[in-house]
Amino acid sequence: RAKARGGHQHCLFSDALAQEHQHRLDTEKALADAVQRDEFSLVLQPQLSLGSGAVTGAEALLRWNHPTLGAVPPTYFIGIAEQTGVINDIGDWVMAEVAAMLACWDEHGGGSRRVSFNVSPRQLERQDFFPRLRQIFGDAGVALDRIEVEITETTAMECSKATLADIAELRREGATIALDDFGTGYSNIARLRQLPIDRVKLDQSLIHDITSSEQARNVVQAVIQLVRGVECELVAEAVETVAQADILRTMGCETIQGFVFAEPMIERDFLAWTSHAVSEGRSAA
Ligand code: C2E
Ligand code: MG
Ligand code: MG
Ligand code: MG
Repeated sequence: RAKARGGHQHCLFSDALAQEHQHRLDTEKALADAVQRDEFSLVLQPQLSLGSGAVTGAEALLRWNHPTLGAVPPTYFIGIAEQTGVINDIGDWVMAEVAAMLACWDEHGGGSRRVSFNVSPRQLERQDFFPRLRQIFGDAGVALDRIEVEITETTAMECSKATLADIAELRREGATIALDDFGTGYSNIARLRQLPIDRVKLDQSLIHDITSSEQARNVVQAVIQLVRGVECELVAEAVETVAQADILRTMGCETIQGFVFAEPMIERDFLAWTSHAVSEGRSAA
């Protein structure tokens, strides 16, 4: 009897696994032509300077809405897209969309804010990534000083000398380079010094409990010191409360991004929100 029950449980377990596997296969299949079907969109999350209170830029974040799978979170589909390689087409789409948006802002006075976007290791690996980036933004008439390229700490630590040289070249051409998810990888401090980067984005896991834990505060303070030491600006990600923002300000963090002041929004809402934020800033001054 116990054996029969055990067998039944085993069945349930493998059913769940089989379902998960099927879902992954469905996702892979749907991803393959999601660009052609125009199923992607970008949302923008503002970044706030703690010193001036100004919105200095925004991060473009990918959203995928599939007719039957629904809204699939990037934390699920980006990894799959990297494995199948379709991330290269998706990445090109992201850059073209950011370029079109910035070109439009230039034309209609949408301000001179910088837009950041995320780049996967699979994209950087490709010989033609940097020429493509230049071509996409060049064709749109958008100067590279309007963009920020986000590369994760792990990606940066693992990329080749040649890729680092390409990143350094892009930076000399005016692009801002940010090290994303800092604090989640195995940072090699010596290498950090040699990275061609302007900003470091502190991962949410590091700031999560800075209001309740002195140890967490000490760690963040040490990281801020380190980032200062390599002459980079610090951006704190996923700041959710005013208390966290206050602590980060006191510690000398320059910029924050997080639900505390704005969630990622569609472009139209972002533009309305920023013009509102700007006029509020003026009337407060
Ligand atoms: P990321 O680049 O570190 O982006 C920050 C993530 O934190 C975003 O999740 C954002 O919505 C979320 N976030 C912002 N503020 C808060 C907050 O106050 N609290 C919390 N809990 N979360 C907050 P999202 O949009 O789900 O993206 C997840 C990850 O997917 C990104 O992490 C990035 O690694 C990847 N991703 C997103 N768009 C792209 C893309 O266009 N290309 C590539 N290669 N990766 C992307
Ligand atoms: Mg569209
Ligand atoms: Mg990012
Ligand atoms: Mg991050």
